[in-house]
Amino acid sequence: MLKLPIYLDNNATTKPDPRVVEAMLPYFTEYYGNAASRSHPFGWKAEEAVDYAREQIASLINANSKEIIFTSGATESNNLAIKGVFEMYREKGNHIITVNIEHKAVLDTCRKLEKMGATVTYITPGIDGIVNIEQIKNAITPQTILISVMYANNEIGCINPIKEIGELAHKNNILFHTDATQAIGKIPVNVINDNIDLASFSAHKLYGPKGVGALYVRRKNPRVKVTAQMDGGGHERGMRSGTLNVPGIVGFGKACEIAKTEMLDETKRLSKLRDKLENELIKLEETYINGSVKSRLPHVSNISFKFIEGEGLMMGVKDIAVSSGSACTSASLEPSYVLKNIGLDDELAHSSLRFGLGRFTNEEEIDYAIEHVKTAVNKLREMSPLWEMHKEGIDLKTVEWTEH
Ligand SMILES: *Cc1c(COP(=O)(O)O)cnc(C)c1O
Repeated sequence: MLKLPIYLDNNATTKPDPRVVEAMLPYFTEYYGNAASRSHPFGWKAEEAVDYAREQIASLINANSKEIIFTSGATESNNLAIKGVFEMYREKGNHIITVNIEHKAVLDTCRKLEKMGATVTYITPGIDGIVNIEQIKNAITPQTILISVMYANNEIGCINPIKEIGELAHKNNILFHTDATQAIGKIPVNVINDNIDLASFSAHKLYGPKGVGALYVRRKNPRVKVTAQMDGGGHERGMRSGTLNVPGIVGFGKACEIAKTEMLDETKRLSKLRDKLENELIKLEETYINGSVKSRLPHVSNISFKFIEGEGLMMGVKDIAVSSGSACTSASLEPSYVLKNIGLDDELAHSSLRFGLGRFTNEEEIDYAIEHVKTAVNKLREMSPLWEMHKEGIDLKTVEWTEH
């Protein structure tokens, strides 16, 4: 039976899997010890649970459990990776290479470092949202200490050539960080094969709880170190102090274990549903898919419906939870910087919606979304003078508008 509203905003966050919640509960009620307490069973029990979760998480990305540093989420992981490398390797150089469609947690961190003496190159990707390896090659200088490129984009879902970027970084003795928040748990990520030195991710994007994440920090070939951004008790091998969020970490571990076993089937199921949604919506006139369709996450579709405001369309489909722009910037009516930076004009960027499918999305919901989005688009266009002019064959770019 169809239950409204329908959740299609799984890139903003995901519903915790009931199996994750179940695994967490005893760590609120019974095993509430501090994982750093060495002197009694309460502490031992908590530490044991954290160790187990660390294994579950490391195993999903082919890391060693010692290489997992727990944080409060991907925002903190990105801060720790980029600021931590900059501080630790400052003597080697001050240059960082990143991309201008990264998450704000990367971009704003880089902006902050520029005020502290860093030089940052912001690469503009192609219209498909994907970084060209040559662009990175050309940006490298003898001062470059870090390349930070996201695994997959949170707004359009495009996947970067991570393995090649990592290879290039290593050849040049440069560290490689990737914000893998949207990729881990959704597509296979292998830190060894992909030549990754540091990877940020977050439990709540893979059906785990909010407020817990991790930074993978490579320990061999090369051994990577980051300067702590949080000082205190020296937890997490000195890289991140603070009492561990034991229930959150247990849930994160369980979420990774489930992702590992179910990822392949889920990818097949979700890409089928996504393609159905997309193939139906694209039948509407003047409707465009944003970003790469070749190298893309299986569950994301970002679509522009020309001559319609994304915000208006969202109001027209109130029973469907989607987003226009990213969740972090959608409080403002600015069009998405991601869409603008890949080269969309303001009008197309403004008319976009992001559909993010997830583990709990079913076909009935997709059918509902197809029908209601189509109806809303047609209705809004019927009311639009711009659409009328377009239908009459007037090129809107040549119209001179008078000020009121
Ligand atoms: C959600 C997200 C983040 C932020 O993660 P939090 O755990 O919410 O801090 C960072 N990067 C990407 C790509 C994201 O999708």
